[in-house]
Amino acid sequence: MKDNNKKGNIDNKLFMNNYKVDSMSHLTIKDQAVCEKCEDKSCTILCPAHVYEWKDEQIMVSYEGCLECGACRIACPHDNIDWNFPRGGYGIQFRLA
Ligand code: SF4
Ligand code: SF4
Repeated sequence: MKDNNKKGNIDNKLFMNNYKVDSMSHLTIKDQAVCEKCEDKSCTILCPAHVYEWKDEQIMVSYEGCLECGACRIACPHDNIDWNFPRGGYGIQFRLA
């Protein structure tokens, strides 16, 4: 049978993951002025965890939900994200279903 609710299924699987949230963000916008001029703001579209949001004329970074996939690091057309893995012991722990 065809699966018509793939997004729902992915969200359910993401919900199963465990996060140990650091108090320090491992993702930093280098220069908000660059984001302001960025036409597509692709980070707000491509991140599967919806980490980036354009709000109050700046990019907000909800690093707590990051899946550490690295897509935003590659996709930002201005290389404007200082991307690091979370510090040791922090970040996501995947649970396979
Ligand atoms: S894609 Fe890069 S430059 Fe554009 S809004 Fe996102 S972080 Fe800023
Ligand atoms: S690494 Fe992946 S999940 Fe984390 S912010 Fe970037 S695109 Fe989103």
